[in-house]
Amino acid sequence: MSDDRQLGFDTLQIHAGTEPDPATGARQVPIYQTTAYVFKDADHAARLFNLEEVGYIYSRLTNPTVAALQNRIAALEGGAGAVCCSSGHAAQIMALFPLMGPGLNIVASNKLYGGTVTQFTQTFKRFGWSAKLVDFDDPAAVEAAIDDNTRALFCESLANPAGVPTDIPAMAAIADKAGVPLVVDNTAATPYLCNPIEMGATLVVHSTTKYLTGNGTVTGGAIVDSGKFDWMASDKFPSLSQPEPAYHGITFGAALGPMAYTFHGIAIGLRDLGMTMNPQAAHYTLMGIETLSLRMEKHVENAQQVAEWLEADPRIDSVSYAGLASSPYHARGKELFPKGAGALFTVGVKGGYDACVKLVDSLKLFSHVANLGDTRSLIIHSASTTHRQLSPEQQEAAGAGANVVRISIGTENAADIIADLDQALTAATA
Ligand SMILES: *Cc1c(COP(=O)(O)O)cnc(C)c1O
Repeated sequence: MSDDRQLGFDTLQIHAGTEPDPATGARQVPIYQTTAYVFKDADHAARLFNLEEVGYIYSRLTNPTVAALQNRIAALEGGAGAVCCSSGHAAQIMALFPLMGPGLNIVASNKLYGGTVTQFTQTFKRFGWSAKLVDFDDPAAVEAAIDDNTRALFCESLANPAGVPTDIPAMAAIADKAGVPLVVDNTAATPYLCNPIEMGATLVVHSTTKYLTGNGTVTGGAIVDSGKFDWMASDKFPSLSQPEPAYHGITFGAALGPMAYTFHGIAIGLRDLGMTMNPQAAHYTLMGIETLSLRMEKHVENAQQVAEWLEADPRIDSVSYAGLASSPYHARGKELFPKGAGALFTVGVKGGYDACVKLVDSLKLFSHVANLGDTRSLIIHSASTTHRQLSPEQQEAAGAGANVVRISIGTENAADIIADLDQALTAATA
C-alpha cells in the first residue's frame, strides 16, 4: 500500500486495498461469507495468535471482505491502518476504548450529532468515563477544559446538524500540546472533502452508514489511525505503552510501531467488544465508495444551489450552510474544505416549530428519515428526533433548535429538489 498515496483519490476509491482474488481471479472483492479460516498447521495457528504473522483467524476479528474495506478507507484518509465495525456509534466506543478508563475524560465539541452527545454524556458514565462538552470555536475554553485525566479531544469535521466546519488544525495543535490525540468524526465531510490526518488529527472515525456507503443500505463504522502518535511518550495510555494483560503481555506500542493502535483495535477491541462489521455490509460499503468523489461533487453542487435558493426565499429565516457568503463560517469553510462544505445543513423556517413540522410533512421528493448522506434528499426535525434527548440549551448549542429542520441534500436534479421545497414551504407557511 505504500505507493498508493501517489494515486489520485478517484483511482484509490476504486483500487486501494484490493487485488483480484488470489484464489479465483474474481475482479470484484468476493463476499467471504465465512466465520473461520483453516490453519495450515499448529505452528501457523500459533504465529497468527501471537501477531507474528498477519492472517485470518475468526470473523469476529478479521475477514477478507472487511479487510479490503479497512485498507481502502485507510488509504483514502491517509492513515496507517483502519478497523471497521458495526456502526458509527460502535466506532466511537472502539476508538476511545484503548485510551480510556474509569475516572478519565474526553473534551468534546458541543456541536455533535445528538446520538453522540447522548452516548458521551449518559452511557459513558456506566464505564466511569466522562465527556466535557465545550465550544470548539473558543480555543481558550478547549484548553481550559483539559486536565490531567483528559485522554482525547473529539469533534466532527463538518458538525451535524448545521454543517459547521471545525478548525481542525487549531484543535490538533491544542491536542498536541496536551499530549493527547485529536479524534475527528469525518462522517459528514468524507475523506473527499476533508483530510483530518493531514490537518494534524491522530484518529478519524466514520459512520460508514452515511456517505461512504451512500445508498442507505447498511450500518457500519470505521476507525482510522494516522500511525503518527507516540503512545510510548507518556504513561497516559497504558493499553498501548505497557504490557497488555489481555493479550499475553504484549506491549502494542513497542512491538507494532505505527500499526499498534490498529492491531489493538482488532486483537483487543473487536475480540472483546465484538462490535464486528459483517462481510455483506463491507461489500455494500465497498460498492458505495467506488463512486464517492462523483457523488460528493454532485451533493456539494446541489447543496450550494439549494442553500442559495432557500436563503433568498422570504419564507425562510436562516440557512446555516457554510458555502454561503453570509455564513460566519464561510472563510473557514473555503480554507479547510476547498472542495465544498458538504451537503448537510439546517434551515430556519418562518413560523417556527409548527412551520417546521408542516414542511417536513408536506415534502414529496424528500424522505423524512433519521439518516443522512444518502443519494436521496432527506429531511428531519432534529429537536424532536435525533437531538431529542438533549436539553433545550444543548439543542441550541448544537445548532438543533426547535425552529430549524436539518436537510441532507441528495444527488437528484437540483431543480426537482427546489420545486419540492417550494411547494412544501407554501403549504407550511400558508
Ligand atoms: C450517524 C452518525 C453517527 C452514528 O453512526 P451510526 O452508524 O448511526 O451508528 C455518528 N456521527 C455522525 C456525525 C453521524 O452522522
